[in-house]
Amino acid sequence: MHAAAFPPGSQTPQFYESEQRLQLEKLRELLATYLKPEDIERVAAAFLFSAEAHKGQFRISGDPYFSHPLAVAGILTGWHLDAQALMAALLHDVTEDTEITNKEIGERFGKVTAELVDGVSKLDKIEFQSVEDAQAENFRKMLLAMARDVRVILIKLADRLHNMRTLDTLRPDKRRRIARETLDIYAPIANRLGLNNLYRELQELAFRHVWPMRYRVLAKAIKAARGNRREVVSKILTGIKARLAEAKIEAEVMGREKHLFGIYRKMRGKSLSFSQVLDIYGFRVIVRDVPTCYLVLGALHALYKPVPGKFKDYIAIPKGNGYQSLHTTLIGPYGTPVEVQIRTTEMHHVAEAGVAAHWLYKDDKSLSELQQRTHKWLQSLLELQSASGDSAEFLEHLKIDLFPGEVYVFTPKGKILPLPRGSTPVDFAYAVHTDIGNRCIACRINHDLMPLRTELRNGDQVEIITATHANPNPAWLGYVKTGKARSQIRHFLKTMQHEESAALGERLLAQALRPFEISPVEVPDAVWEKFVLECGAKSRKEVLTDVGLGKRLPAIVARRLAEGIEKGAPSAEPKPQNPILIRGTEGMAVQLAHCCRPIPGDPIVGVIKKGQGLVVHLADCPSISVRGRAERNKWVDVEWERDGGRLFEAAIKIEAENRRGVLAKVASEIADAGSNIQHVTMDDEHGIYTALYFTLQVSNRVHLARILRALRHIPEVVRISRMRE
Ligand code: MN
Repeated sequence: MHAAAFPPGSQTPQFYESEQRLQLEKLRELLATYLKPEDIERVAAAFLFSAEAHKGQFRISGDPYFSHPLAVAGILTGWHLDAQALMAALLHDVTEDTEITNKEIGERFGKVTAELVDGVSKLDKIEFQSVEDAQAENFRKMLLAMARDVRVILIKLADRLHNMRTLDTLRPDKRRRIARETLDIYAPIANRLGLNNLYRELQELAFRHVWPMRYRVLAKAIKAARGNRREVVSKILTGIKARLAEAKIEAEVMGREKHLFGIYRKMRGKSLSFSQVLDIYGFRVIVRDVPTCYLVLGALHALYKPVPGKFKDYIAIPKGNGYQSLHTTLIGPYGTPVEVQIRTTEMHHVAEAGVAAHWLYKDDKSLSELQQRTHKWLQSLLELQSASGDSAEFLEHLKIDLFPGEVYVFTPKGKILPLPRGSTPVDFAYAVHTDIGNRCIACRINHDLMPLRTELRNGDQVEIITATHANPNPAWLGYVKTGKARSQIRHFLKTMQHEESAALGERLLAQALRPFEISPVEVPDAVWEKFVLECGAKSRKEVLTDVGLGKRLPAIVARRLAEGIEKGAPSAEPKPQNPILIRGTEGMAVQLAHCCRPIPGDPIVGVIKKGQGLVVHLADCPSISVRGRAERNKWVDVEWERDGGRLFEAAIKIEAENRRGVLAKVASEIADAGSNIQHVTMDDEHGIYTALYFTLQVSNRVHLARILRALRHIPEVVRISRMRE
């Protein structure tokens, strides 16, 4: 809820100023109970800065806007939050609603405060769209994960609490939406963090706005019933107190008022009538230590009969948010059910304040007792706190706990997908659907085109661009995170590689059979079958795939097949083989060597490499001429097929005078020559000359020559060379 332009009413600026002085006085007094004087001054500075920044802005209620951040800070003092959090609370809407930037806040109030403010406004920006349960859960997790620091969540919750408290001034439809969101998202987060009082209040306020009629009816009925109840409550209270005194147990006993939303939920969930729910009486017994809890339990079970199956030991097995207590239900006087919670003082602190107990009961000596029993995560936090006493370390640890190993991202339709941390758009695509993954060619993250290898972050909106004939890229395996993406890509590549390799194998075999003057179709099935059997393969296709992959030499397969046909030696004078034509579009079965990057028009030679298939090198590539001689039998005659129809990569180096605008001139010449720049780097030297390295897309050698010629005409260019690593 941000500032609305609203007439300031009849109050004069002087009125607001004196009002503010009083508010600051009150805040100082509050802070003096737990903050150091220098911290109080820092908070006061933030107070004045924010008041000034929001000056002239008013809430829809007509209150000065500053009353909101001030109230949020006030709620946080209730949890004894530190100066940084209080400053951030005071400043939390400043960057959104005024000209002031987050950088300025950092300079004035420190990096941490600025980060907290930034964290809160980031949370404000994500909108909850779906009411589906699973989506709500994901959304809650995303909020927790996005808040790098638990204080961000606490500020956000306080912000929501104050907005809920002042919801009356909004339009009914807006009220309902915010209240619904509070029920679905924020109240459960408060619960997860063990902030019980906050949890209750948020639910109560939300209930009133989501179902105003039901709220009114229930409130009225409870008020009417209260008279009768009072009598029963005091009777039971007296009974319990007397019994505990008899057993010499020191304890604090109190009746618990049920809150409306709790009653409503019980009525709905268990289909009980109002009087059935209201007839349940709640009591709480608070004692010094754990053994006493169990003594109280025994004493009460002797006083009233317990309802079987209703006893729960949350001391031995605490709830997920650290909550501990013994719960039991007894049959009280007049046969009314009596629910009792039994807990120690420390458990009570955690039950009421949850994670905020860290700040609230910092100096509590009995904390060491507490830490042995609270739930694992809260426990380890408190242990850490007492061991190190270092707030930063405490937060660091909490951060890890709030940060599951997941990120939460949006689909274009606003659905939330959880993915493992480090996931990329490719993982996202496969998570949506295998077909989307297999056809994915590009992506937009938050509406910008981004590389597919980009690591996704919480709250990103991801859109996958697909093309009908696109295929998975083997390079994706280098960065995908999810098992699903990995296995789907592998599966696809394997199938495709086999197809492509089989096709290449067939061509290689045809070439190798030519000296025997046999064409592959002339090989009788019986000869094939015999060969397949003898060489231990499963099928003819497997043999061809093996040939394509370089696992079998085509010359040897050809000889064996020829022998099978002629039952004798091959002709003494083998005819020269026809070269294999290379299109460059063979896929993974044919690779253009990275060492020399041949392009159509270059003299080339093919080398069969085991497991990889055919690798095409420049005929004079040093990497094959050195160790090549011994492997001559693996060389294959290859030639470029005319008009392969695809583009090839060529690398060039341009040496030019180091003048401004040279790069632009070069780039525009390249574009004019009909080529794309794939990649460019420059030498960092600041001499007279500089070197530019381009990777270009060209269709063939002629095309490249044309580009180089055009570049030579640029006056600043001194030398151009094609690069071969
Ligand atoms: Mn706010």
